[in-house]
Amino acid sequence: MNQPSGLDVFMYLRKSRTDIEEERRAQEEGLSFDVLKRHRKQLLDLANQKQHRILEIYEEIVSGEHLFDRPQIQKMLKSVEKGACDAVLVMDLDRLGRGDLYDMGIIFRAFRLSETYIITPYEVIYPSEEGAELLFGVKSIISREELKSITKRMQRGRRASASEGKSITSKVPFGYWRDANLKLHPDPDTAWVVQQIFEMVARGKGRNQIANELTNLGIRTPGKGREWSHTMISKILKNEVYLGHIVWGKNKYIKQNGKYISKPLPPEQWYRKEHAHKPIITQELWDLAHQNYGMHNPPRVKSSQKLVNPLAGLVYCKNCGYALTRKADSKNTAILRCPSIRCRGIVKGISLQLIESRILDSIKEFTQAFTLDIQLSDKFPTEIPLKKKSLKVKEKQLGILQEQHENLHDLLEQGTYDAKTFADRQKKLSDRIRKVKEQIKKLRKEINREEQNCAVFKPKVKTISEAYDVANDAEKKNRLLKSVLDRIEYSRQQGSKHGEFTINIFFRI
Ligand SMILES: [Zn+2]
Repeated sequence: MNQPSGLDVFMYLRKSRTDIEEERRAQEEGLSFDVLKRHRKQLLDLANQKQHRILEIYEEIVSGEHLFDRPQIQKMLKSVEKGACDAVLVMDLDRLGRGDLYDMGIIFRAFRLSETYIITPYEVIYPSEEGAELLFGVKSIISREELKSITKRMQRGRRASASEGKSITSKVPFGYWRDANLKLHPDPDTAWVVQQIFEMVARGKGRNQIANELTNLGIRTPGKGREWSHTMISKILKNEVYLGHIVWGKNKYIKQNGKYISKPLPPEQWYRKEHAHKPIITQELWDLAHQNYGMHNPPRVKSSQKLVNPLAGLVYCKNCGYALTRKADSKNTAILRCPSIRCRGIVKGISLQLIESRILDSIKEFTQAFTLDIQLSDKFPTEIPLKKKSLKVKEKQLGILQEQHENLHDLLEQGTYDAKTFADRQKKLSDRIRKVKEQIKKLRKEINREEQNCAVFKPKVKTISEAYDVANDAEKKNRLLKSVLDRIEYSRQQGSKHGEFTINIFFRI
């Protein structure tokens, strides 16, 4: 395939059904990866390699299959029609349209009339060439048929694999390794850890205690981090894979407001394949551990799940980044402390009431700064002033570049430049001008957005501190705080006196 180079291009990014499915699977395994980010990088690499100039990147946030639910492509097609670019970079022809022939007709027409190419990492489509229409049509029909069955097929396939005793999770369960046929085998390096965990629980140890012991021994965790947590222990304890069984379909995923949420299904609807692979632990040990697991870690009852900490999920340890957790001390007063063993003996806990009132004071101070000072932008902790300054610099720069660009022609006429030097200089300058223009556009957009945010934000902060005083439960207070605060960093040295601690508040803006 002959990839053209040096074109002015648009980039179009969109997730497909399969991508969403893949992301969901990763999420299910506690991983996260961003398909669009990956595609963006791939296309940027391609553009870089072929020295294309990227004029605009269109990124579809929504994942509608039809043109009319995809605002970005509508916008892009308008520009394509006018011949604003030489080519559009996409991951695959499917990304442009997967809807129906009507949609494909509109897309095709825009590209053909303007003689705009479609470039993917694997092919180049010249819509004005003979046969291209066919390519579009045929591809779109295949895509549509595929689309109809894709979800069903995937579900069926995975269920079938599970019932054959294959391990189909995106991450291999800790303690096992997986062969090419997706069968699991105990991993001599980690299987004994699983065995140990079950035995420790069976002997009556608590999950936190086990997590600490494993961390202290430097045993690798199922994830990327170096510290074991009680949730990791729980996950292992609850996974029937260690008995040799494959269980699939515990959750159902449904789309709500554009987001996938998981809903647990009743056990009778799960797919099970017993004795699918070699177990790591015996049924006896499982039973024993589960008896004790229940005893030492009584399952939370509904009533205790009510939020008691108005600062939950807001205050983080500056030393290690962990969220502070609420504990009651010996005198039964609520304190917040860092749960990480790395900070034990280093970061001191703090009375919940004390830190809460300090936060509220800061919010009030913040509010007063607004109401007293009309020249808000100076005191307001945003990047607006900085960005405005930077905008001025860029605008000046643009002026100079444009002047230089005009002078080029004189230099050519005067014979100072030969044709080749002229062309080189011209290209370099044009590129720089384009870049600066893009930066200016971006800055303007950001300033605009931030200014709008400020306008909404200010009155909101004022009402928060007032509302907080009358809110009577922790959950309400928590929601109020989270609507204006992003996070709070907390630090306090061991041995510091009453009231001696530091907080950094990050407002949500
Ligand atoms: Zn910490």
